[in-house]
Amino acid sequence: MKTPNQLESSRREFLRRAYTTATIAGLGTTGAGFATAEENKVRGVLGSDPFTLGVTSGDPLPDSVVLWTRLVPEPLEGDGGMPDRQVPVQWRIATDEEMNNVVGEGDAIAHPEYAHSIHVDVKGLDPNTEYYYQFKVGPHYSPVGRTKTAPAEGAAVEEFRFAFTSCQNYPRGYYTAHRHLAEEDLDLAIHLGDYIYEGGAQGSLGRGHEPPREIESLDDYRIRHAQYKTDPDLQAAHAAFPWIVTWDDHELDNNWADEISQDDDPVEEFLKRRADAFQAYFEHQPLRPSRMPDGPDMPLYRRFTFGELAEFNVLDTRQYRDDQVDSSEEAKDPERTILGDEQEEWLIEGLANSTTRWNVLANQVPVAATDENPNPDVQDFGGGDKWDGYRADRQTLLEVMSQDADLNPVVVTGDVHRNYVYDLKADFSDPDSETVGTEYVGTSISSFGDGSGMTQYGPSAGEPWQRFFNVDRGYVRCTITQERWQTDYRVVSTVEEPTASVRTLASFATDAGNPGAKLVSERPEQEPVEITEIQANAPGRDGENLNGEYVKLRNGGDAAIDCSGFILSFEGGRAQNYVFGDFTLGAGETVTVRNGSGEDTQSTLYTGFTGAVLNNSNPDTVLVANDEKIVLDEKSYPPS
Ligand code: FE
Ligand code: CA
Repeated sequence: MKTPNQLESSRREFLRRAYTTATIAGLGTTGAGFATAEENKVRGVLGSDPFTLGVTSGDPLPDSVVLWTRLVPEPLEGDGGMPDRQVPVQWRIATDEEMNNVVGEGDAIAHPEYAHSIHVDVKGLDPNTEYYYQFKVGPHYSPVGRTKTAPAEGAAVEEFRFAFTSCQNYPRGYYTAHRHLAEEDLDLAIHLGDYIYEGGAQGSLGRGHEPPREIESLDDYRIRHAQYKTDPDLQAAHAAFPWIVTWDDHELDNNWADEISQDDDPVEEFLKRRADAFQAYFEHQPLRPSRMPDGPDMPLYRRFTFGELAEFNVLDTRQYRDDQVDSSEEAKDPERTILGDEQEEWLIEGLANSTTRWNVLANQVPVAATDENPNPDVQDFGGGDKWDGYRADRQTLLEVMSQDADLNPVVVTGDVHRNYVYDLKADFSDPDSETVGTEYVGTSISSFGDGSGMTQYGPSAGEPWQRFFNVDRGYVRCTITQERWQTDYRVVSTVEEPTASVRTLASFATDAGNPGAKLVSERPEQEPVEITEIQANAPGRDGENLNGEYVKLRNGGDAAIDCSGFILSFEGGRAQNYVFGDFTLGAGETVTVRNGSGEDTQSTLYTGFTGAVLNNSNPDTVLVANDEKIVLDEKSYPPS
């Protein structure tokens, strides 16, 4: 562990001072800059609805919650269509949705320096209580939002329900998952990062990024956040619950680490961009004013306690991390950190002092190890973006988990656009070591577009600690009681059309006192039937043909799988076993590959490819098992 790179560099100090000055100016007393209602009218501010981004609330405490909105009649313009002056906004909070029983109200000032965003930290509320809130400016009323305070410290809580989300690339999909999330009955929603994406992608759905380029400036980041928040489904989810948000990389720059950008931009240039991205992030999230960025620094990691039931440690694994490395050798450097010293101490101390039944890490990138070496006899967790790349910090965390039998640690994670369930091992290099915690990884809201539906229950060849894998889009719902934690993987039928259905694909549970996950509704055990010969595909499209190698097929039924007209193609990513309907495409054993040239070859099947999908585009493809043509039930792919 070491302190973050050059944290106190003079360059950064200069930027911080410059921004601190701006901050003080922006939040000065409210006299001089006030616009009268008449002036505002003249400027057209009140001529059109300024609540185009809806409302939300966040960071619930037992007596307080943050209410958020932003005045922005023109969300896709740099100045939001607002004048360069302060605008007073009224807010009120009530115990009923009709806003009849108002229990608090006041004025807040929308400052141009903060894009006329409002962050009201309402105090004096009752614990564990549902409230409704609304803003008003001139003749315009905002939508009414619903929120809920946290239970009192130490209070008994029978049940707590929350959902977590991540990765909502706007051009890649509609927010059908948010639409269904908004219908849930929850105490809290969490966003684990990639709230926006910084690139200029346009996609094919008529939801192209604005501005149509990689964003760099404060105006750019404001427009991008505003564009995302114009989405009605996202607004519905935001209005329905208090949110706890944290960022991953795309809120600023792909794979950034502390002061290091994707393209290794000069540090001062990148810190300027970082300050702009952080400011726009703050402006668009329901965060307390105490979280306001100070130039390129923003104190985002924080803790929330829900009675005696659960404590959430909300992590920031980007701002203080060492840069990503590629190899295991580098990843093992004991000096490397993903949390930074201060945050790590804060986390360890918090876990040590916690008295709640469950202790949650709201975390960006997977903690569980993943094996990059396709050879089953060789384990190589590599480096990369995940905790795999930061072995010392991971081992410290796992040791903390292993030392306290009452901790009941659960990590909830985003980033990877896949659903996974992992048992967290005391030592991942020893798969037989004790299970000390549980990790539930949630798929994306829309990133990568529609999923393939590939699903696997149980371990993969490289990860014996894996319990579940799935490629769908959706969100993850968790129900916590004293005895049990249940996780429901909620998946939507599509993100490439504006509406979709939702279902619970799988549920896993962790019993208090017994770390690790188990499937709630057991699938019937299938008798695997080995398929020992594969006739290779005719050459496929560039780089996509699997060539029959690295494949094992097992059939749970009568080995009747017709793959005529299908090719097996790569999706990108890394090794897994996959279930297509009732058969598994995966790894591990020796098969005969009939490659069409008359020369059969023996291949050992590793988990060395990632995600295969079957495309019905090659009529010459035939799979053969025991001299029988294999018949695939077309209904099983693509999955419904
Ligand atoms: Fe992402
Ligand atoms: Ca291996």
